[in-house]
Amino acid sequence: MKTKELFKEKTVFSYEVFPPKKTSGPQSIYKTLEELKSLSPDCISVTYGAGGGDNNDESFKIAQTIKGYGIESIAHLPCIGMTKADLEEKLEELQALQVENILALRGDLPADDYAPGDFSYASDMVRFIKDKGDFNVVAACYPEGHIDCKDKVQDIKHLKTKVDAGVDQLITQLFLDNNDFYAFRERCELADINVPIEAGIMPVVNKRQIERMTSLCGVKLPDKFVKMMDRYQDKPVAMRDAGIAYAVNQIVDLISQGVDGIHLYTMNNPYIAKKIHEAVHNLL
Ligand code: FAD
Repeated sequence: MKTKELFKEKTVFSYEVFPPKKTSGPQSIYKTLEELKSLSPDCISVTYGAGGGDNNDESFKIAQTIKGYGIESIAHLPCIGMTKADLEEKLEELQALQVENILALRGDLPADDYAPGDFSYASDMVRFIKDKGDFNVVAACYPEGHIDCKDKVQDIKHLKTKVDAGVDQLITQLFLDNNDFYAFRERCELADINVPIEAGIMPVVNKRQIERMTSLCGVKLPDKFVKMMDRYQDKPVAMRDAGIAYAVNQIVDLISQGVDGIHLYTMNNPYIAKKIHEAVHNLL
């Protein structure tokens, strides 16, 4: 099933998982999936490391396993460094696995020299995918603007180009202030971007995790979030519970304001997904 169809029926609730590093043993993800399955998400997406992570070969297999559970899956696919022939091969692989939803991404630009490949931006890849097969194409978007593009208006124009290339739905990067999401949604409306937008929510359960995200993606930390972290950062259980409560508050507000869907960055942690599921599943 193409996941864009889900939005016609309800507020969509999806999860994101990543293939574990080879050193942690590939089996750990299948145990995680078993637990996530029992929470009946509408769909689960699986990340894929740009430029060749050590665990990418698991990514499509995980997407296939999710489909086997009767839950829709979305395979992430970054195009940085890929040739057209590489991408065509990946599309054939996905077709053979009957995975019909792809999150088409550029990927982060490597700091060192790299072979640029045939695709400069995700929009080039979206066009190529739509031309090659009957895929549902999902793309990334950034409520606070993408870190490489300092001009938010320009960033929205780039997003419009990407959506017009054939995007069926969008998923946002994490954000911690819902007002950033509402302002972004308005900019999308003004730019005539009309596909469903899922809000990406990451429960922040330790300080190192958010410091990494801030330096990688430029996510802003609201005052109330900083105060929460200052208070609980040395108490892991309290920090975890406060992070879950913060995410639940964000989700309740987003659903009340008519969000199309919530995409939960589970960090492969079924406990957190379960706690959030318990708090919000009656609201969807
Ligand atoms: P693009 O849409 O190509 O945009 C990248 C930048 O280029 C933006 O600044 C944009 O404004 C600018 N731009 C676009 N078009 C033009 C143009 N024509 N001219 C000039 N500038 C332009 N990364 C992974 O490696 N693996 C994953 O699995 C993964 N999953 C993700 C899931 C989500 C929901 C999100 C939000 C991000 C994910 N990422 C992942 C990270 C993503 O690859 C990075 O954020 C990357 O830097 C941008 O990818 P993009 O597809 O948004 O790029």
